Amino acid sequence: MHTAFEKEDIVIGVSACLIGENVRFDGGSKPSNFCIHEFGQHVTYKSYCPEVAVGLPTPRPTIRQIKDGDILKVSRPDGTGDVAQALQAYGKKVAEISKNLSGYIFCAKSPSCGMERVKVYTPEGNPLVAGGIGVFANEIMKANPLLPCEENGRLNDAPLKENFVARVYTYRHWQALVESGITKHKLMDFHSQYKYTVMSHDLVAYKELGRLLARADLPVEEMADTYIKGLMTALAIKATRKKHANTLAHIQGYFSKYLSPMQRKELCGHIDTYRKGLMPLMVPLTLINHYLLEHPNDYLAKQAYLNPYPEQLKLRYGY
Ligand code: SF4
Repeated sequence: MHTAFEKEDIVIGVSACLIGENVRFDGGSKPSNFCIHEFGQHVTYKSYCPEVAVGLPTPRPTIRQIKDGDILKVSRPDGTGDVAQALQAYGKKVAEISKNLSGYIFCAKSPSCGMERVKVYTPEGNPLVAGGIGVFANEIMKANPLLPCEENGRLNDAPLKENFVARVYTYRHWQALVESGITKHKLMDFHSQYKYTVMSHDLVAYKELGRLLARADLPVEEMADTYIKGLMTALAIKATRKKHANTLAHIQGYFSKYLSPMQRKELCGHIDTYRKGLMPLMVPLTLINHYLLEHPNDYLAKQAYLNPYPEQLKLRYGY
């Protein structure tokens, strides 16, 4: 869980322009408030500007993705100065030397760094469907499909931002587990800590992961590989208000016997009001954490769901 990690323990790859480095084609940057002032207080960035790394100057003429049959160029609009292969090679190199990353924030729309919906043009300059992926970003994501990745634009959406940060901390926790040497016992313990987190995203996945860990015929390494793929895939599924409300109701069941009828009614009311979209998740969670302090429960206390990342990020206040 996040409490185990200091700022320097969590290394996040980032497009250099998003943290204020003047590397863009116009000589400026594209500072992201979230990257610099919010998330940046809790993680350490490793910044990359692939266009500068492959030798393009700053400032520089704009480049775009141009599709000519099977060939994808990243060049000036007239097709000259193609750096697609250089960007690809640099992406492979960075992917190889940065296995310690716990997440990546890419700059949207860039022909090099965009994660999705990058504009692609015909050689004649007509726009194709905007379904491209930045050439550098593509190599990073291909080499490590489990790495939590997001774009700066999408991080303005409160649920997407929360989801990205939660995946980063989960993935970092997993990396620490792998570093310490995985055993079946550690795997079971890890899974039990993420019970309610997975449940809030995908109940079916929670059951499937539990069945996976119950198998006696798999070597632990193979089990761990399958497990983390299943977990990260489940966490990428949107956690809706309905799923969160069901998860909160399950948690409530652990200590409701200690609550007075009035307290039970208040908590149920908060969960229901949250479910209807009338208050943020933080409200019922605060009440649950309060009751948990009064009525300690070891199993609940270790749940990542109740304490997924530093509270100062205030990610559950907005939805
Ligand atoms: S989007 Fe990527 S390539 Fe473009 S300036 Fe930012 S870091 Fe450099």
